[in-house]
Amino acid sequence: MPLKLGLVGIGKIARDQHIPALKESRPFELVACASRNAKVDGVANFLDLEAMLKGMPQLDCISICTPPQAHFTAALAALRAGKHVMLEKPPSATTRQIALLADEAARCRRTLFQTWHSRFAAGVDAAREWLRARTLTGGRIIWKEDVHHWHPGQQWIWEPGGFGVFDPGINALSVLTEVLPHEVCVDNAVLEFPSNQQAPIAANLQLRAENGVRVDAEFDFRQKGEQSWDIELTTTSGKLKLSQGGAGLEIDGKAVSAAAGLAGEYPRLYARFASLCSEGKSEVDWRPFQLVADAFLIGERKTVAPHHV
Ligand code: NAP
Repeated sequence: MPLKLGLVGIGKIARDQHIPALKESRPFELVACASRNAKVDGVANFLDLEAMLKGMPQLDCISICTPPQAHFTAALAALRAGKHVMLEKPPSATTRQIALLADEAARCRRTLFQTWHSRFAAGVDAAREWLRARTLTGGRIIWKEDVHHWHPGQQWIWEPGGFGVFDPGINALSVLTEVLPHEVCVDNAVLEFPSNQQAPIAANLQLRAENGVRVDAEFDFRQKGEQSWDIELTTTSGKLKLSQGGAGLEIDGKAVSAAAGLAGEYPRLYARFASLCSEGKSEVDWRPFQLVADAFLIGERKTVAPHHV
């Protein structure tokens, strides 16, 4: 019997990825949605999670697709109602919140799958395997996109807990922490805040791996023309480039094709969620989030031109 799943927050990512992935999923059946504004055909629709939990006690799982500011309250309520929870990135508005959610999942003996969708991009597993036996000598992340194109009207990104340019940038850090055989810390950061907003529109980070090697990261929401979601890593025996957010992989300038039959990021995320539920395990890794939080803590802040959403 498939697990009965309720989806919370019917915005861009729910419509673009979660609903199509769930339609094809065997382990899950999408039976309910909660949204203040939207309705999804063919399922029970509720105005909020509270009403959904009350109206459909038979739900096994809740998948949360709201902005990070709403994650903690929703995930806590779902876990306490005895549901397994899948959480979109970034995990929560503050680092303490995700730690508390992990504790609560253990206490309730329910699965918490705190996702990093970019780790499920086609080139990431092969990149991690290639790097495993190599010595890193340097690295560069270039993550630049046009916020007007990719996040139209999303005011929440500019509010506290919305992450600004780190909303996409944290994806790069999730891939970096997944593929590198070393841990990394933030050495320095410069964050650019529009004079009328509360979150950065651009950020430069200097990261240092535990073997002392420096990895630089450039995040920018003001990119016009070609967009880039690239990670370049050099080693003593060759170099690697992940492009298109981890979907493309080149090693020493030659394209490497993904494993045959590999499903897309979101079908793989839901397959992983199903395995975790059946094994009674959780998966939580807040290292990318800590790097972002550390950039906010130690970063130099610059004020730049206003940004209109
Ligand atoms: P979105 O289009 O703004 O949709 C978010 C939905 O959450 C809204 O439609 C809203 O639905 C609901 N919501 C509940 N509480 C909210 C609040 N306090 N403020 C605003 N909306 C609230 O955002 P999105 O692009 O889908 O992103 C949602 C999450 O997915 C974010 O954490 C984002 O980082 C992540 N994500 C996005 C993408 C992408 O390409 N867009 C990719 C991967 C991950 P109702 O008003 O109907 O309740």
